[in-house]
Amino acid sequence: MKDSTRIGIIICDRYRDCAGGKCFRSMKNREGAFNIYGKDQELELVGYTTCRGCPGGNIEHAPEEMIKNGVDVIHFATGMVVGYPPCPYINHFKNFIEEKWGVKVVVGTHPIPEKYYKTHTNLKTWEGLEWEDILKPALATEEIRLAYD
Ligand code: SF4
Repeated sequence: MKDSTRIGIIICDRYRDCAGGKCFRSMKNREGAFNIYGKDQELELVGYTTCRGCPGGNIEHAPEEMIKNGVDVIHFATGMVVGYPPCPYINHFKNFIEEKWGVKVVVGTHPIPEKYYKTHTNLKTWEGLEWEDILKPALATEEIRLAYD
């Protein structure tokens, strides 16, 4: 019987050299978008890759490989939301993966770092209703955002 939730993470290719420090820390601590999982719920990482660069060609392939490893939920790394500019394809990617493979997609991994939060707020990058939903999972409190600066 399966006793863990299997997670796949897809990151923005701009951050392709990222070693995943913040994502893995937040996954361990159940912070940011990982706070939907209980502390006693075991999480297993079964895939970690990039979108392969705009416009995200790997979105058509990576989920299939993750599914072979039993993925339950695919998270888009917070970098897709906080990059300058944020990824313009987030909703396309999410809708595509959920429609084609029926796998749940959560936008976000680690909490949005406070320095990105401040700059995007000043730039008004995230104005509009669609951003409310996109940001919600990784928004966290100011205290936690500061801890991820
Ligand atoms: S902006 Fe979007 S499509 Fe472009 S590299 Fe980043 S995640 Fe991929």
